[in-house]
Amino acid sequence: MAQKQIDWSNLGFGYIKTDKRFVATYKDGQWSEGKLVEDETIVLHESACVLQYAQTVFEGLKAYRTKDGEIVCFRPDLNAARMAESCRRMRMPVFPEDKFVEAVIETVKANADWVPPYGSGASLYIRPYLFGSDAVIGVKPATEYQFRIFVTPVGPYFKGGVRPLTLRISDYDRAAPNGTGHIKAGLNYAMSLYAIVDAHEQGYDENLYPDSKTRSYVEETGGANVLFVTKDQKVVTPKSDTILPSITRRSLMTVASDYLGLATEERKIPLTELEEFAECGLCGTAAVISPVGRIVDHGKEITYGMEKMGPVTEKLYNTLRSIQMCEIPAPEGWICKIL
Ligand SMILES: *Cc1c(COP(=O)(O)O)cnc(C)c1O
Repeated sequence: MAQKQIDWSNLGFGYIKTDKRFVATYKDGQWSEGKLVEDETIVLHESACVLQYAQTVFEGLKAYRTKDGEIVCFRPDLNAARMAESCRRMRMPVFPEDKFVEAVIETVKANADWVPPYGSGASLYIRPYLFGSDAVIGVKPATEYQFRIFVTPVGPYFKGGVRPLTLRISDYDRAAPNGTGHIKAGLNYAMSLYAIVDAHEQGYDENLYPDSKTRSYVEETGGANVLFVTKDQKVVTPKSDTILPSITRRSLMTVASDYLGLATEERKIPLTELEEFAECGLCGTAAVISPVGRIVDHGKEITYGMEKMGPVTEKLYNTLRSIQMCEIPAPEGWICKIL
């Protein structure tokens, strides 16, 4: 075993086949033990529930190499709990949470050569997913399922420097009231594709979705939560039942209060308040935080700064990154040692 020879710092965010992937199957009311396989393809029935009715949920997390050369991942228990929640909402059988974490560890271990070196900015992206695999025609949940995990190395998010994003307030909806916005289901992404391509065509990086019911409160983008910093350095994030509970965002709120001594608040944020804030960032596993430089709300421009990350955003980013890389002590249970 030896680390793969890859130009890690120039790696993008795309699929690269690694050595092993984990597969467990659900049949007759039971999950199989699960095993590692080499084949990256899946043979499915033409009428599989996932293909016809999109019965699928997923997770995303990363493994890193630390300064001491260890391989770790970040709060996988929260991904396990969130996938369990997603499964319950989709009437899918939960893959047991402790087994989920074990399977993540096993899959990363089997692909340890693909974990990028410390300091490269690259990491090993881990994608657990679960879908209905047997044939259905009438609309009902599948009776057979697969839980799988693959991993793929991904490059540094801010290649060529940090570039603050421009968002638009979207006229499309992401999540219906009482719908599935709070779970990580493929269907939320399928319906966002039109809006994201349209945003790009109009020159925006992302859609910032308001709540679908009143269109007057900030929710999140298609794949990241949002946080704001007030002029007096309070960290504020929207509260809503239709936002996906980002693990990065929840961790950053703890970092803000416990590491940086900042006041934090999770509350409804009216669109009319956007211009009051000093800084804005998007949070998710991919980037930790991407600074938002500008939000365009139907012709009205709100600017936070297009040059660089805001000072508080940068402190949040650096602190969480240092925790993840084990450069500074982490709160109990945040770092899961793999190798
Ligand atoms: C995955 C996801 C996020 C980010 O969650 P993390 O756990 O921080 O990676 C935010 N919003 C949506 C809609 C997501 O699907």
